[in-house]
Amino acid sequence: MKCKYCDKIFLEDDNITLNYFEHIKINHYESLGNEDKMMHDIREKMIKSKINYDQSKKEIGDSDLVFNSNNSDNA
Ligand SMILES: [Zn+2]
Repeated sequence: MKCKYCDKIFLEDDNITLNYFEHIKINHYESLGNEDKMMHDIREKMIKSKINYDQSKKEIGDSDLVFNSNNSDNA
Protein backbone atom coordinates (compact mmCIF):
# COMPACT_ATOMS: atom_id res chain seq x y z
CA MET A 1 0.00 0.00 0.00
CA LYS A 2 1.41 3.34 -1.07
CA CYS A 3 0.86 6.68 0.61
CA LYS A 4 -1.67 8.84 -1.18
CA TYR A 5 0.46 11.95 -0.70
CA CYS A 6 4.07 10.79 -1.18
CA ASP A 7 6.08 7.76 -2.31
CA LYS A 8 6.24 5.97 1.01
CA ILE A 9 5.31 2.30 0.82
CA PHE A 10 3.57 0.58 3.72
CA LEU A 11 4.14 -3.09 4.38
CA GLU A 12 1.08 -5.26 4.74
CA ASP A 13 0.97 -6.23 8.38
CA ASP A 14 -1.41 -5.99 11.30
CA ASN A 15 -0.50 -2.37 11.98
CA ILE A 16 -0.66 -1.08 8.43
CA THR A 17 -3.74 1.04 8.97
CA LEU A 18 -2.42 2.62 12.13
CA ASN A 19 1.03 3.12 10.59
CA TYR A 20 -0.57 4.82 7.63
CA PHE A 21 -2.60 7.16 9.79
CA GLU A 22 0.40 8.02 11.95
CA HIS A 23 2.37 8.79 8.82
CA ILE A 24 -0.36 11.05 7.43
CA LYS A 25 -0.61 12.85 10.73
CA ILE A 26 3.11 13.48 10.99
CA ASN A 27 3.88 14.25 7.35
CA HIS A 28 0.74 15.42 5.60
CA TYR A 29 -1.80 16.57 8.16
CA GLU A 30 -1.20 20.25 7.50
CA SER A 31 -1.83 19.81 3.79
CA LEU A 32 -5.22 18.16 4.30
CA GLY A 33 -8.38 20.17 3.79
CA ASN A 34 -10.67 20.77 6.76
CA GLU A 35 -12.98 17.94 5.80
CA ASP A 36 -10.09 15.53 5.28
CA LYS A 37 -8.67 16.49 8.68
CA MET A 38 -12.00 15.75 10.28
CA MET A 39 -12.28 12.40 8.51
CA HIS A 40 -8.72 11.59 9.50
CA ASP A 41 -9.41 12.31 13.17
CA ILE A 42 -12.61 10.28 13.20
CA ARG A 43 -11.09 7.28 11.45
CA GLU A 44 -7.97 7.40 13.61
CA LYS A 45 -10.11 7.33 16.75
CA MET A 46 -12.05 4.35 15.44
CA ILE A 47 -8.87 2.49 14.58
CA LYS A 48 -7.30 3.19 17.96
CA SER A 49 -10.37 2.17 19.90
CA LYS A 50 -10.52 -1.06 17.92
CA ILE A 51 -6.86 -1.73 18.72
CA ASN A 52 -7.44 -0.99 22.41
CA TYR A 53 -10.41 -3.33 22.35
CA ASP A 54 -8.38 -6.11 20.74
CA GLN A 55 -5.56 -5.63 23.25
CA SER A 56 -7.83 -5.67 26.28
CA LYS A 57 -9.48 -8.76 24.88
CA LYS A 58 -6.08 -10.42 24.67
CA GLU A 59 -5.17 -9.37 28.22
CA ILE A 60 -8.32 -10.68 29.84
CA GLY A 61 -8.79 -13.37 27.23
CA ASP A 62 -7.26 -16.27 29.16
CA SER A 63 -9.42 -15.88 32.23
CA ASP A 64 -12.74 -16.05 30.44
CA LEU A 65 -11.85 -18.30 27.55
CA VAL A 66 -14.82 -20.56 28.20
CA PHE A 67 -17.21 -17.62 28.26
CA ASN A 68 -15.74 -16.25 25.02
CA SER A 69 -16.14 -19.52 23.18
CA ASN A 70 -19.87 -18.94 23.35
CA ASN A 71 -19.45 -15.63 21.50
CA SER A 72 -16.66 -16.60 19.16
CA ASP A 73 -17.99 -14.98 16.00
CA ASN A 74 -16.94 -11.45 16.99
CA ALA A 75 -13.33 -11.77 15.78
ZN1 LIG B 1 3.20 10.14 2.77
